[in-house]
Amino acid sequence: MLDYFDLESDLTEEERMVRNTAREFVSDRVRPDIGDHWLEGTFPKEIITEMGELGFYAPNLDGYGLPNLSERAYGLLMQELEACDSGLRSMASVQGALVMYPIHAYGSDEQKERYLPDLSAGEAIGCFGLTEPEHGSNPSAMETHAERDGDGYVLDGTKTWITNSPIADVALVWAKDRSADDTVRGFLVDTDTAGVTTNKIEEKLSLRASITGEIHLDDVHVEESAVLPDVEGMKGPLSCLTQARYGIAWGAVGAARDCFETAREYATEREQFGGPIGRFQLQQEKLAEMATQITLAQLLADRLAELKERGEMRPQHVSMAKRNNVRMARDQSRIAREMLGGNGITADYSPMRHMANLETVYTYEGTHDIHTLVLGEDLTGLQAYQ
Ligand SMILES: Cc1cc2nc3c(=O)[nH]c(=O)nc-3n(C[C@H](O)[C@H](O)[C@H](O)COP(=O)(O)OP(=O)(O)OC[C@H]3O[C@@H](n4cnc5c(N)ncnc54)[C@H](O)[C@@H]3O)c2cc1C
Repeated sequence: MLDYFDLESDLTEEERMVRNTAREFVSDRVRPDIGDHWLEGTFPKEIITEMGELGFYAPNLDGYGLPNLSERAYGLLMQELEACDSGLRSMASVQGALVMYPIHAYGSDEQKERYLPDLSAGEAIGCFGLTEPEHGSNPSAMETHAERDGDGYVLDGTKTWITNSPIADVALVWAKDRSADDTVRGFLVDTDTAGVTTNKIEEKLSLRASITGEIHLDDVHVEESAVLPDVEGMKGPLSCLTQARYGIAWGAVGAARDCFETAREYATEREQFGGPIGRFQLQQEKLAEMATQITLAQLLADRLAELKERGEMRPQHVSMAKRNNVRMARDQSRIAREMLGGNGITADYSPMRHMANLETVYTYEGTHDIHTLVLGEDLTGLQAYQ
């Protein structure tokens, strides 16, 4: 596997073990059927608990039986999952970074005990409801709201593009609390609560091996105990997104690496004009550029892990890494596809599947444009969002 600057030699024993476990799991349990799942638009649900048993959900958190691995180990895990399919990494990202992290960081002891062990084991599935039909890049304009009602709240609104909502047991719904000046709060809503519906979004052309849906909340009554007590305002959802985007910055490198390895192998085996296409300078230039771009992205992700471990990572660092690494993977997957000629457009090879998936990764968790504006603001002190 491409590791041109030998990052491997700096890994701890534990990090190497996590990486190898994830690589083997993906190769034995997911890779053989992922193309079929992608074509069918299904997620291999049987692996959800297996990933739980292996400690793949929020492994960088501690307590409640969680592994408390290093941030680099967590990143390597995301990289291996996404080397298989962005949908697989999305499952682990949502469960770990977008559902378990906020419960861990902002939940009550009762919420932690109730949800974290089951989510960690994959016995329960969580989803994260922030985006709405009319409010994507600007979630602070959300319309979903909560109204005080006796000893709890009544929730109304619609969330869309929610990964795993149709198969989720619990939804973390972000809503404005009308009884407290429209402050944004997080509500843990069990999806079997009366008034909750989670329709699946069909016919996606990207991230097909991932279940995506809506969350409709129609006069949904929840107890006071459903509110995450320790966070208010947009800091709540945005801090979760920082965690998930960290994993994406690593994961996208995995998708690109898989495209590179597929193209490299193909170039040495496919013969035209009496020999392997890899002997042509045009093909070598593509591989050289791909390897360089992947290596730069690996180094960026690795440095990001170091900053995160030290507690010095800023959301803007994550924006730069997510923005760069996903764009890189999106661009390089297309080059890899091109190198495979006609075979490259089939599901027998991974590059075009990765390429289609990366359209989602480029768009979700802050679009490429929005991260550009985050960096622009950080560099100039001037906001350019509106
Ligand atoms: C498969 C999939 C899974 C997802 N999973 C989840 C999930 O689990 N939970 C969740 O809450 N959300 C999820 N999302 C939603 C995702 O985060 C949003 O799609 C994303 O934030 C963009 O919002 P939008 O689609 O409404 O696009 P819009 O915000 O309408 O943007 C449209 C275009 O306008 C550009 N744009 C917007 N504002 C500006 C600006 N100020 N300046 C310049 N350009 C701008 C954007 O970059 C984009 O190109 C998912 C999306 C997909 C596709």
